[in-house]
Order: sequence, then C-alpha cells, then structure tokens
Amino acid sequence: QLTTGQPNVCIVGAGPAGFYTAQQILKGNPNAVVDIYEKLPVPFGLVRYGVAPDHPEVKNVINTFTQTASKDRCTFIGNVTIGKDISIADLQKAYSAVVLSYGADNDRLLGVPGENLKNVISARSFVGWYNGLPQDIDLQVNLDVEKAVIIGHGNVALDVARILLMPIDLLKKTDISQHSLDALSKSRIKEVIVIGRRGPLQVAFTIKELREMIRLPDCKPVLSQADFIGVDKLIQDLPRPRRRLTELMYKTCMEPTDKDVKLWKTAQKSWSLSFCMSPLEIFGDKDVTGLKLGINKLQGEDLVKQSAILTDQTVDMSCGLVLRSIGYKSIVIDPDIPFDTKSGTIPNKDSRVEGKPGMYCTGWVSTGPVGVILTTMNQAFETGKTVVKDINDGILDLTKPGKSDIFNILNSKGVQTVSFKDWENIDQFEVKQGEDVGKPREKMVDISQMVSVAKK
Ligand code: FAD
Repeated sequence: QLTTGQPNVCIVGAGPAGFYTAQQILKGNPNAVVDIYEKLPVPFGLVRYGVAPDHPEVKNVINTFTQTASKDRCTFIGNVTIGKDISIADLQKAYSAVVLSYGADNDRLLGVPGENLKNVISARSFVGWYNGLPQDIDLQVNLDVEKAVIIGHGNVALDVARILLMPIDLLKKTDISQHSLDALSKSRIKEVIVIGRRGPLQVAFTIKELREMIRLPDCKPVLSQADFIGVDKLIQDLPRPRRRLTELMYKTCMEPTDKDVKLWKTAQKSWSLSFCMSPLEIFGDKDVTGLKLGINKLQGEDLVKQSAILTDQTVDMSCGLVLRSIGYKSIVIDPDIPFDTKSGTIPNKDSRVEGKPGMYCTGWVSTGPVGVILTTMNQAFETGKTVVKDINDGILDLTKPGKSDIFNILNSKGVQTVSFKDWENIDQFEVKQGEDVGKPREKMVDISQMVSVAKK
C-alpha cells in the first residue's frame, strides 16, 4: 500500500518558485508536509539578491512567503546545498515528491575575444555585489572610469544602469550593501551606453524600468532619432504593453516635453540606448578600453519577433567598464537530474521531469530566466497543483519517511542547518543594523556570521 500515508514533499531552492509551489501544495492537500531546502542560510532567492535595492515594494512578496513558512506543515531548512551536502538520490529515498526550483545561478557568456579582461563583468555578479550576495562581495569592479557599456536590453541591464547612475543620496536610503555604496559614492561614471542586438521594437525591458531611467535625476537620456524614424507608424499595430513601451521611447526621443528638455540641459550624466549592435571583440591591455561592435540588420515578418543578422559593418567604441547582461542560466547540481545544456533548463512536461517519476521542476530552472515574479508565481501554482493531482491519483509513493533520514545525514556530516525561526534572528539583526545607518536593513554578507547570528 504505497499510496496511503503522508505525502512528504521536498522543494530544492527557497526562491519565489519554491515558496509558491509550497503554498499551493499545502493548500491543495491537508496532509501534505513540505520541506524547503536552501543552500544559503537565508530564504527568498532573487527577491533578496536580484531585485534592485530601490524597488522595496517588489519585495513585499516576502510577507506571503513568511506566512507559508510559518505553517506547521512547512519547514525551511537553510544552509544545505543539494548536490553537495545531500544528493538527489537521498531526497528521492526520503520524499514522495522532489520539486526542483533552484533557479538560474550562472550567467551566459558573450563568447568573444577579450571577455576575460579586467572590468568586463557579468551583470549577475554586479547585481550580487550590490545586493550583498556572499559569493560576489569581493567582486573587483573599477568605477574610476567615465564610461560604461552594458550589453543587453532587458530589465537587469536597466537595473544595473540605474544603480550606476543614481544619485548616491537616494541609494543611501535603500538596503544596498555598504561595500558597494562606498564604491559607488566614489564612482566617476557619467555615461552609460546600453547596447542591444535588435531594434526599439524588440527590447526586453518593461515600461516601469524605462520610465525610471528617463526620470533619473541629473541624468539625460540619449536616443538617436535615426533609430525611431517611421516607428510612429508602426506603434498602432503593436500589442498594448509593447505599444506603450515603444511610445515612451519614441516620445522621449522625438517629442520630449519642454520640462524634460530643460531638466536634461543641466544634467551631469547621461545614458543611451544603442540598437542593432553585437559585440565582436573587447579591447584592452589588462583593463578593458573598448569594444568592436558588429552592426546588425533586422529580418522577419513579425516586427516584434524580428531577428538580428550581422552585417559586415563594424564600429569601435571606447569604454572603461563592460557589463554583460545577456541572461542567466541554470547549472546541473547533481548528475541524477536530467539537464538540457543547450537551453540550460531541466526537460519537463507540465513540471514533471522527463523520465523521473516523483521529480518535478519549476521556476527559472524549468523555464529559463524569463519573466517576473508574477510569471514565476503562476507557473509554480500550476506545479503545486500537478503534485497534488499526482498525490490524489495515487501515482506517488506515500510511505517515504521524510526529513528524519535527511537530518541523520546532515548531522553525520556536521552541517549546521538554519530554520525559519533562525532566519528571523538574522532578519531582526539586519533590520537593527540598518536602523543605525538610516537604511531599511544592512544585509550580512558573511555566511558564518549569518549562521552564528541565526543560532543566538
Ligand atoms: P530564484 O529566485 O533564483 O531562487 C532559487 C533559489 O534556489 C535560491 O535561493 C538559491 O540560493 C537556491 N539554490 C540554488 N542552488 C541550490 C542548491 N544546490 N541547493 C539548494 N538551494 C539552491 N521580478 C520582478 O517581478 N520584479 C523585479 O524587480 C525583478 N528584479 C529582478 C532583478 C534581477 C537582477 C533578476 C535576475 C531577476 C529579477 N526579477 C524580478 C525576476 C525574479 O527574480 C524571478 O522571476 C524569480 O526570482 C525566479 O524564481 P526562482 O525561484 O525560479 O529562482
């Protein structure tokens, strides 16, 4: 009788995908027990370590996650790296269902010569650096330069541009990590060029982030009129969010208001969007000094989906910092997880991992790094429903013992786990540290310090 008993479900990764899946399973099955494993001593994934410090409202989802974690049938088990401290095989032995939601921790490379030069940095590491992600706090970024190039036209690119150009007095009031605040306050950067391989109709950032860039104090947007000629005629036919976004770019470039023009006249800094360019080479001796960019033409019937084709024209551009923001990708954390190295995701059908009964995946590890928290939430809810359905359909083995076996292994290895109550000690400590300097929180950046504060 494998189908009667208690459904013990484990989730790997305490980001939005993990928490929303847990929420749905707990709601959908009154007997299910859900354990969430997280490699860091702190929960919430990219909500803590990705979302920009000046977007505190986005982090309100943490309240919902906290409610989920506070339920009797839910246990947060932090400071445990699956694939290192505990294997997937161990989890499969202990749990009726294993849900993988460990995100996309790695970044994509440009694959061009010069990518290893100093001050060519991945946006992922830069974001980790300013958000206090322990693995990135020692990032060597030289801001004693005037011009930065960001490669990529997504929201992360604009987040990074905004942080580089934002007045320090505004940044000071956020939960940005102190080491990066210190470095940014000495920054000489006054020009940021955001480069994309396609045109204005294909950008991947959204209107909120664009609007914030346009309204950045003391900073002028520079858009080339040549890129927008004729765009007004196409706007009407675009789907609504794309139409509004394109309209805003068009107006900023072609029809700025008198107020804007007056404001931008005195601006000390600037940022620009460059279109239809792909990096071919990054120059420099030790430090980066510039790039060679190939000029692209666009091809394809559907305007919004047009693709970039490299021409033989090139242009050289000087700069002292290059940030690569062309997407995140997942890694294989354990050889027992099927993985598609090309797409950087776990192959699955409706969240069920192909060829692995009882194994599920959700969030960025299953879709790739696309969409916002809301997208992740909708998908994770569906994953939760799928797990509940499989429990109810008698597909899963409900005689598995759950976390007791795992704790035996962790104890034998001397791994110190962090519970949700322990995390609340860290949380309170950080908020207190922040209060002292007028910030909503000062994040701890040292894992052993986090663990010791957690256990107080
Ligand atoms: P993640 O949030 O990455 O969570 C994965 C978790 O798994 C992490 O906690 C990680 O530590 C853990 N993990 C990894 N490996 C292991 C392992 N081996 N063992 C145990 N645990 C492991 N969306 C918005 O709506 N608004 C925004 O303003 C916004 N800003 C963003 C800014 C940046 C820079 C980025 C990258 C994304 C942003 N997003 C934003 C998107 C949003 O963060 C994602 O949609 C969402 O976080 C994806 O959730 P996830 O759970 O799949 O991944």
